[in-house]
Amino acid sequence: MTVKMNGWSRRQFIKLSTAAMFQILFSSFISFAESSTKSQTQMERIKRLQASPQYNDGEFVNPIDVPIMADGSTWEYIKKRFFADRIDPEPAGDLPLKRIQRNDWAKIGKENFNFAWLGHSSILIAVDGKTVLVEPVLEERALPYTWIAPKRFHPAPVTVEELPPIDVVLITHDHYDHLEEPTMKRLNHKASLFLVPLGIGELLEEWCIPPEKIVELDWWEHHKVGSLHFTATPAVHYARRGLFDGNERLWCSWSVHGRNRRLFISGDSGYFDGFKNIGEKLGPFDVTFLKIGSYDEMWKQIHMLPEEAVQQHQDLRGGILVPLHWATFDLGLHPWYEPIERTLTAAQKIDVQTITPIIGEQVNINRLPEENPWWCIEDEHRG
Ligand SMILES: [Zn+2]
Repeated sequence: MTVKMNGWSRRQFIKLSTAAMFQILFSSFISFAESSTKSQTQMERIKRLQASPQYNDGEFVNPIDVPIMADGSTWEYIKKRFFADRIDPEPAGDLPLKRIQRNDWAKIGKENFNFAWLGHSSILIAVDGKTVLVEPVLEERALPYTWIAPKRFHPAPVTVEELPPIDVVLITHDHYDHLEEPTMKRLNHKASLFLVPLGIGELLEEWCIPPEKIVELDWWEHHKVGSLHFTATPAVHYARRGLFDGNERLWCSWSVHGRNRRLFISGDSGYFDGFKNIGEKLGPFDVTFLKIGSYDEMWKQIHMLPEEAVQQHQDLRGGILVPLHWATFDLGLHPWYEPIERTLTAAQKIDVQTITPIIGEQVNINRLPEENPWWCIEDEHRG
């Protein structure tokens, strides 16, 4: 085990915070000025948001009343994040990686279900002859101001240009590590449809994605693409990109039903009993893609712990669990490999089948990869 200093002095922290605050204020002022001239589409969108059962008093709300941070913990988080020593916040060496080969994806038959985890919450899926790209985040850094954002632990295993044609881009919420402006703009020429929760269409239109390529859904609404049925399902989380747009756009998880396969994609969420309801209504799921990392007791009510993710899988009546939201960015306070270790320990206790492919590895669901604890390279590097 190694202990690493964060490398941030108090003066650096104050300087960066002030500059970040100025940039956020400036961009918020610009978006406020733009909002005074709303288009007809936008007026219709606002009416639809206001009619949503999830919308209350000017913002979207969770199915249960939870705080984003536990009382009094914000300063504690800042101290731990910027001034305390931390254990293994990032990998000691290069992570193994397989690059996506477009030709391999073009050969996948309609009857097959293949996927590749692209790091963090990004997944490339081929099912029922359609290609679905989930939360593509492929840039070097995940936040708007590249000089302050956490850098990736590994390169993306594919560029937008190298991707096969995409039938559906699927988004769960508007946080920067799930919805990346440059990648979405580039995908406009490659993707036929952008399927998002209510409110995110406005952002996509600002990024020059035409409204006819955008479908926005409320919880429990669905949309069909070929033989695939997409249903937006509840999650306990929040939304924010700037200083003044908190909870203006909905967050969700996704259920995807194909001819022979059912998939669940978690997005970010705290644990709540609503997953049992989703499992009863739309399960069982052959594969659940679940968020396991970036957790802490301070904010577990909107970012569940690994053990809760295993329980979520059970509630959903899941078959195979594929862990997401770890090994790409340092967004929590835990060692970078801790989420997978805690998830596997919890899964083994109750015989939940978990697979841990290498980033970029193409997985055929009929020929599962052998067990490969690739994150243990850490021990070799530590000596
Ligand atoms: Zn989030």
